[in-house]
Amino acid sequence: MPEDWTRALAVAAHPDDLEYGAAGAIAGWTAAGKDVRYLLVTRGEAGIDGIPPAECAPLREAEQRAGAAEVGVSVVEFLDHRDGVIEYGVPLRRDLAAAIRRHQPELVITGNYHDSWPGGGWNTPDHRHTGRAVLDAVADAGNRWIFPELAELGLQPWNGVKYVAVGGSPHATHAVDVSGTLDRAVASLEAHRAYLEGLGDHPMASARGFLEFLADLTAPRFGGRRAAAFELLRM
Ligand SMILES: [Zn+2]
Repeated sequence: MPEDWTRALAVAAHPDDLEYGAAGAIAGWTAAGKDVRYLLVTRGEAGIDGIPPAECAPLREAEQRAGAAEVGVSVVEFLDHRDGVIEYGVPLRRDLAAAIRRHQPELVITGNYHDSWPGGGWNTPDHRHTGRAVLDAVADAGNRWIFPELAELGLQPWNGVKYVAVGGSPHATHAVDVSGTLDRAVASLEAHRAYLEGLGDHPMASARGFLEFLADLTAPRFGGRRAAAFELLRM
């Protein structure tokens, strides 16, 4: 992965998305002095079957802030789109372009925008729509004429994004060694306590087991080292 950047904005559809794979890489970056910030499109309020959305949203927000803190991330923002029905469209692109202008990242991290996961399972519309809107909003953020109302709010165009790193992609091109940060990544995912409890006996409920499984999937392509994989797009 390129290291010629100092600030990253990680954009995910739901609390827990960044913890399922990317957090190990993020822990290494923040330990090296890089500035990484989180932007969540929703509060994940539709993510726990046994907890109604109004009760779930503040719980998941708190879990996301705790999970971010475990990997050195202190800036966590929420856009308040509705969980489960995120729409790809101009309002989402505008919200994301505004955030990119405000935070001025050189690296943008997001999740899998493809139809399927690496194993072939069907992806969800929230992830697809978020990832695609993020990629589009990087260009929107740099064009003063696409959302002129943002400039009127003091958000000037930002053309500084060099890369977008897509976690969980079936077309990974790059990887980051997480052999030294896996424990922090596990702690970050375990901070999503209510979410993990809600998963019952699903394999994704075991934070360490699932993150080791993901890191081991990439290892054969990365010199045998446990790694977080990304599809890297140069902007
Ligand atoms: Zn998700």
